[in-house]
Amino acid sequence: MCNHKSIPSRVLSAPSAKAKFELTTIERRDLRPNDVLIDIKFSGICHSDIHSAYDEWGGGIFPMVPGHEIAGVVTAVGGDVTKFAVGVGCFVDSCGECEYCLNGEEQFCTKGVVQTYNSLDYDGNPTYGGYSQKIVVKEDFVVRIPDNLDLDAASPLLCAGITTYSPLKHWNAGPGKKVAIVGMGGLGHVAIQFAHAMGAEVTVLSRSLNKKEEALSFGADHYFATSDPATFTGLAGRFDLILNTVSANLDINAYLSMLRVDGTLVNVGAPAEQDQYSVFSLIMGRRSIAGSLVGGIRETQEMLDFAAEHGVAPKIEVIRADQVDEAYERVLRSDVRYRFVIDISTL
Ligand code: NAP
Ligand code: ZN
Repeated sequence: MCNHKSIPSRVLSAPSAKAKFELTTIERRDLRPNDVLIDIKFSGICHSDIHSAYDEWGGGIFPMVPGHEIAGVVTAVGGDVTKFAVGVGCFVDSCGECEYCLNGEEQFCTKGVVQTYNSLDYDGNPTYGGYSQKIVVKEDFVVRIPDNLDLDAASPLLCAGITTYSPLKHWNAGPGKKVAIVGMGGLGHVAIQFAHAMGAEVTVLSRSLNKKEEALSFGADHYFATSDPATFTGLAGRFDLILNTVSANLDINAYLSMLRVDGTLVNVGAPAEQDQYSVFSLIMGRRSIAGSLVGGIRETQEMLDFAAEHGVAPKIEVIRADQVDEAYERVLRSDVRYRFVIDISTL
């Protein structure tokens, strides 16, 4: 296997945890027969980038080039030049042989999926993500972005989109189902659109009433502020499915109380500290608590095609490379509507 590296790429790199980003140059690997070279145009900022770059989950590999919401254009395939719009999400390799890989759920690969950044590839080299001009990726881990999606607004679909589409589908959000989306940030605002497009009755649970009008414009049927205790009593026993997209710890028992019998609380938000809950919150209504991790490549393509067909589009604020540190601070203050996307031409 060729491990030679000779494709320079400007990147935004965090030298250590919580350090400011620096513009540096890395070398991407030469193309192997099944690789494609992508000129990255836009890269979304996921809250996971912040958890990682601040090393809140531990095990961070520095220097770190975050970014797993990558939208760009293929410029070479195994040496041949072509041009089509593509996306790369949260992982770039898996064993391809275990039961989960064979089932199209590479995120659960038993050998350990190779994440797009903050990971080691199977040769032991650190991976560097999408805050970068170029990336070399195995073609099997690249999805096609439908023509009617704009590249900038499409980029957040590669993580925020699939992370919400996949559990909504898995837990059967659809006609006749009452679905609550907790937290209206990058993931939450896309989740509202997907759940609505799937035909569910959608309720948004946000801390304040500030985002109500926009939630309704994204397709929400109802909206409540979780800062008001009456929300929890008024909605007791209401939902079939609650999708928790919040980046911080919540009072899990209070959310479980809003599930009907057999309802499920699915966590995709990934706070560093452990959540606490009482088993009685589950026992009393045969309720379930679950989690979900992004989605496989096949389902990511399905999600993009669904978004294109149903007009699901992240609402974004495009920023320059020199605004990323400030953007992180704004995400932490929930001062983002609803996803920052880096214009990679400014690197
Ligand atoms: P985000 O844009 O920052 O949105 C998070 C939302 O959570 C905020 O907009 C806010 O919503 C709510 N929130 C924040 N702090 C809160 C607090 N202290 N108490 C209550 N609510 C709070 O983040 P994101 O990019 O959507 O990511 C959300 C989480 O999902 C992160 O933990 C991320 O790492 C995780 N994630 C997981 C996966 C996966 O595969 N499982 C994939 C991607 C991301 P309101 O203002 O509406 O209250
Ligand atoms: Zn993400």
